[in-house]
Amino acid sequence: MVSKVTFYDTTMRDGEQTIGVNFSIDEKIEIAKELDNYGVAAIEAGFPAASQKDFEEVKRIAEVVTNAKVVGLARMVRNDINAVIEATKNAKHPMIHAFIATSPIHREFKLHMTKEEILDKIKADVTFTKQYMQDIVFSPEDATRTEPDFLVASVQTAIDAGATMINIPDTVGYDTPEEYGEVFENLRQNIIGFDTVGWSTHTHNDLGMATANALAGIAHGATEIQGTINGIGERAGNVDMIEAAAAIQVRHEKFNVETDIVLAQSKVISDVVARATCMPVAGNKPIMGRNAFAHESGIHQDGYLKNPETYEILKPEMVGATASLPLGKLSGSHAVMSKLNSLGYDVTRDDMKVIFPIFKSVAEESDLITDEQLKVIMQVVEEKEMVSYQ
Ligand SMILES: [Zn+2]
Repeated sequence: MVSKVTFYDTTMRDGEQTIGVNFSIDEKIEIAKELDNYGVAAIEAGFPAASQKDFEEVKRIAEVVTNAKVVGLARMVRNDINAVIEATKNAKHPMIHAFIATSPIHREFKLHMTKEEILDKIKADVTFTKQYMQDIVFSPEDATRTEPDFLVASVQTAIDAGATMINIPDTVGYDTPEEYGEVFENLRQNIIGFDTVGWSTHTHNDLGMATANALAGIAHGATEIQGTINGIGERAGNVDMIEAAAAIQVRHEKFNVETDIVLAQSKVISDVVARATCMPVAGNKPIMGRNAFAHESGIHQDGYLKNPETYEILKPEMVGATASLPLGKLSGSHAVMSKLNSLGYDVTRDDMKVIFPIFKSVAEESDLITDEQLKVIMQVVEEKEMVSYQ
C-alpha cells in the first residue's frame, strides 16, 4: 500500500473528447492554472499531433504551468512523439504520454499487428523518446481486455526501455473493481522493478464504476489516478477526480493515503469546467451536485439541525460548497423556524404552532418555498395575529 496518491488530470484531452466540447485557448489556460493550484501532479494538455490548434494549446499551457508536469499525448508514431517533444519543450516539467493498444481485438482489427510487432514498437519508440524526455507515461490501450501475460510483457518492455509511469486504461469501462484490482495485482507480482516506476489508473464510467475502479487500483498498488474534472470524457466519461479525492479524504481510515489536492478549491474548479464545457453538473451528482448537501424532508432537516453529522458524511466547506435546507412540503417546523430566525424573525416554537400550518398550506401547492414567499407568509401571519416578529 502506498502512502501518497497523486492525480493526473486529462480534462483537456480525454475530457475534450466529450461530445460537443471544444475548449478555446483562453479556457484551456484558465483551466490549466486552476488545476495547477488544485494540486494535480500532471496536466495532460492535449494531443499535439492531432491539429495545429492542439499543438499551440499544449505549447501555451507548457509556458504558464509552474508546478504540475505538462503532458502531451502521442500514439507510438515518430511524428506524434516529435510533436510532443516540441510542444512541451518550454515546460518546467515536460512529460509524454505514449500509448499503443495491446488487446486482441485492437491488435487484429485496428492495428493489424502481431504481439511481437507491438513489443518491438514499444521498445523502439520508448528508447527513441528517452533520448529527449525523462518522464514517459506508457499506456497499453484497452489493458483490461489484454491477455494478462501479454500485458505483463508489454509493460515490462516499456519499463526496460525507460518508461517512468505505467498507466492501465480500462478503455471501455468494462471492469468491475475486483477485476481491475486483479490487473494491478498480476502486474505487481510479475513485473521486475514494479516499485521503480509509478502506476496510474485510467477508468471510464460506462457502467458507473469509474470511481470504484480507480480506488480499487489504489488498493492494489497504483500510485496515481488519471481523471477529469466533473467526470467529463469519452462516452460516459472518466473518473471524476473530485469524487475520488473526496472519497480518499472522507474514508481516510480505509485508504490511508495522502494527496496534494486542495479539496476546498473543488467548487471553484468544477464551476470553471462546467462553464467552459457548457455542461452544468447534474443536481444529484456526488460532491458537486447542487443537491449533494441539500436536505429537504422534515425528518432529515430536523436531524441535520440537531447535529449535521446525522445526515452528512462530509462537510460542504471541505469541498468549497455550502449546505442548504430547501423548504418544501416535506419540511418540518424545526427547519422553517430555523430559516425564519436566519431571516431575522424572532419566532419561538410556540409561535410556530400558528405559523407552521400556514406555511404547510402554501408549501403543498408549491415546489420549493423561496425566502420571498416566506416573507409573504409572515406578513399574512403578522396581520392575522396582529403581532410583529421582527
Ligand atoms: Zn480514456
